[in-house]
Amino acid sequence: MKGCSRFCEQFFFMNTLTKSCTKCGADKPLPDYYADPKCRDGLAHWCKVCALAHARDYRVSNPERVAAKNKRWREANRDHAASTKRAYREANREKVAAADSAWRAANPERQIDYQRRYTYGTDGRDLLASQGGLCAICACDLASLPPNQQHLDHCHETKRVRGWLCHGCNTGIGKLKDDPALLRAALAYLETA
Ligand SMILES: [Zn+2]
Ligand SMILES: [Zn+2]
Repeated sequence: MKGCSRFCEQFFFMNTLTKSCTKCGADKPLPDYYADPKCRDGLAHWCKVCALAHARDYRVSNPERVAAKNKRWREANRDHAASTKRAYREANREKVAAADSAWRAANPERQIDYQRRYTYGTDGRDLLASQGGLCAICACDLASLPPNQQHLDHCHETKRVRGWLCHGCNTGIGKLKDDPALLRAALAYLETA
C-alpha cells in the first residue's frame, strides 16, 4: 500500500473485508452491500443480489401496493415526476404513441371523458347525474343511446358547458344557431301556423 492515496487505501480495505449475507449466506466484499444507516456497520444485512431479487419479487407479487406507493411519491414530487415523464415521452416517441393509441382503443369512454376534461374542464359526469341521465330538452334516456349520440352541449364561444342533450335535440338547437330569438320564432310559427 506504499505511496497509495488515502482513497486507494480505503478502497483496498473495503474490498478485502467481507461480510456474510444473511439471506444467501455467501461471504462477499463490502461494496457488494447497499448502505443502510439502520444497521450497526452501516451496510444492509442482505447482499445487493439478494436485495434486488427481493425487490423484484415484491414488485411482482404486490403490484397494487407498489403502484400506490409510486403514486404517493409522484404526488409529493409533482414537478420532478412531470419532467421525468416529459423526458421519457420525448425519448420514446414511437413507443409512447403506440401505447397511447392502444389505450384509446381499449378505453373509448375514458378517452371521451379525458377529451372533455381537456376541452371543457369537466367530463360532465356529475352534471349528467344531476339531470338523472336524461336529455335536458326531450328527457329521453341518454344511456340508451350510443356514446356518439350523447352530447355534452356547450356554448361555442365561451366553451361553457350548458347541459347534456341527445343527438336530435343538440342538432335541433344547432340548426337554429343556438339562438333563443330564432327558437322563439320557430315556436310561435309552430303554434300559429
Ligand atoms: Zn445474498
Ligand atoms: Zn333530446
